[in-house]
Amino acid sequence: MGYILTQKRIAILGAGPSGLAQLRAFEAAELAGVKNMPEIVCYEKQNDIGGMWNYTWRTGLDKNGEPVHGSMYRYLWSNGPKECLEFADYSFDEHFDRSIPSYPPREVLKDYIMGRIDKRAIFKYIRFQSPARWITYDDNRQKFTVTVMNHKSDEQETEEFDYVIVATGHFSTPNMPYFEGLEQFPGRVLHAHDFRDALEFKDAELLLIGGSYSAEDIGTQCYKYGAKSVTISYRSTALGFDWPEGIEERPLLTRLEGNIAHFIDGTTKKFDAIIMCTGYLFHFPFLPDELRLQTHNCLYPDNLYKGIFFQSNPKLIYLGMQDQYFTFNMFDAQAWYARDVILNKIHIPDAAQRLQDIQDWLARQEALETADESIDFQAQYVRDLIDATDYPDFPIEKQAELFKAWLRDKEEGIMEFRNKSYRSTITGTMASSLPKPWLDIKDDSLEGFMALKFLAPKE
Ligand code: FAD
Ligand code: NAP
Ligand code: MG
Repeated sequence: MGYILTQKRIAILGAGPSGLAQLRAFEAAELAGVKNMPEIVCYEKQNDIGGMWNYTWRTGLDKNGEPVHGSMYRYLWSNGPKECLEFADYSFDEHFDRSIPSYPPREVLKDYIMGRIDKRAIFKYIRFQSPARWITYDDNRQKFTVTVMNHKSDEQETEEFDYVIVATGHFSTPNMPYFEGLEQFPGRVLHAHDFRDALEFKDAELLLIGGSYSAEDIGTQCYKYGAKSVTISYRSTALGFDWPEGIEERPLLTRLEGNIAHFIDGTTKKFDAIIMCTGYLFHFPFLPDELRLQTHNCLYPDNLYKGIFFQSNPKLIYLGMQDQYFTFNMFDAQAWYARDVILNKIHIPDAAQRLQDIQDWLARQEALETADESIDFQAQYVRDLIDATDYPDFPIEKQAELFKAWLRDKEEGIMEFRNKSYRSTITGTMASSLPKPWLDIKDDSLEGFMALKFLAPKE
């Protein structure tokens, strides 16, 4: 057999921030003059790019009968400072041409994320309305077979690839617990994934189950839009903020009796609706057991070398599978690293060395005790990746300090932290301030936000 140089073929599943980072990474290499570029096909279930950042009014199934991906809701504002998620190769200044406040609403952040994208350059790779259905790997031929459902043509398509990059996100499939009496509860019971508009719960007595970001954010938001009361019921630890009158925390729900909830501390309260803010399942119905990442939401999922390459088959690549302090710049760091492995610029060590590396990180994760330590851990992880590639170096350690300040600001005032401003670690620009408190700004549209008269940054 002669030596035939064939182009490598790569499938990217998902065109959310992680999949787009991967497309951007290859685009950057091409612009830098790299030859032997692989052939890329990106399959996206939705009809647009943006992933979770696409707001949809739909819940349940989409128009093709596929599970709706979106978990975002109206009036959602960034829950961390934008200075902690700034792209190193595309600053907020470059996009907005002026200093904007540190906590923008969803549409504003989406505008920024999408602003980096040269749609003409990237759309040619993407096949929309094409969810991945099933993937296999042939050990002898070292090829993946990827079958997708193309809802545009109403036909299933099967193609072969050398690498598969899974960028389908992990905050979309609800983890829905059961509590005794739920079937008799007279009000609405939903998961955060299906929450869309806080106004639905105006004047309602609301029970939220969960003790993390969704409970905190949906709780404060429903309060902002006029819920009569918000009770957050936690399993492990209370959020512990200094809540305003109208929001309270209680330990775990034990059972419901009609519309009366019983809590583990013996207290009871009557509710109109229940929202399960109980997190999400990692759900890859298109992957067989031997290729499927099995984990829960954590900073370092097991079986991923560098948090990216599946241990038993490193040609299977996972992006964005970590719990996230850092988001967009971490996805970039991963995408650049994965690209360089595919382009043979970075060599992947053998299985034993990969295992050792994974175990070292897992041991460090195991030893984490505080939120500050967890932030540093993820910053060190991102640092490890960016040092190995030509992704523009940026002061991730300074961003980690901003995250720690963010934690303090939240402790100081859970209803006020979004009024704070931070300095960009990329451009040095200080964020301007909201002209009135976040609690009083009800319009979350891009136009509404940009029309606000931001207060000049305090230098
Ligand atoms: P996603 O954004 O989830 O994108 C995955 C993509 O894969 C989607 O487009 C989906 O349609 C597609 N897909 C899924 N299954 C298939 C399939 N079988 N075949 C083909 N395509 C498929 N992060 C922040 O930085 N700041 C915030 O303020 C913030 N707020 C958030 C609020 C909520 C309610 C949630 C749930 C998350 C929030 N996040 C926030 C985190 C958010 O997950 C990340 O910002 C980011 O969207 C993750 O990008 P991703 O590409 O990995 O996944
Ligand atoms: P999460 O961080 O994974 O937290 C899940 C929570 O559910 C935990 O508190 C967990 O409690 C609890 N839980 C799970 N099973 C339970 C059960 N059976 N009974 C009681 N409690 C249970 O998920 P999340 O809060 O949905 O956040 C997901 C992502 O969305 C995060 O990245 C977050 O940043 C993002 N988000 C962002 C915004 C925003 O930007 N505005 C808003 C919402 C969410 P234990 O601690 O006991 O396990
Ligand atoms: Mg570097």
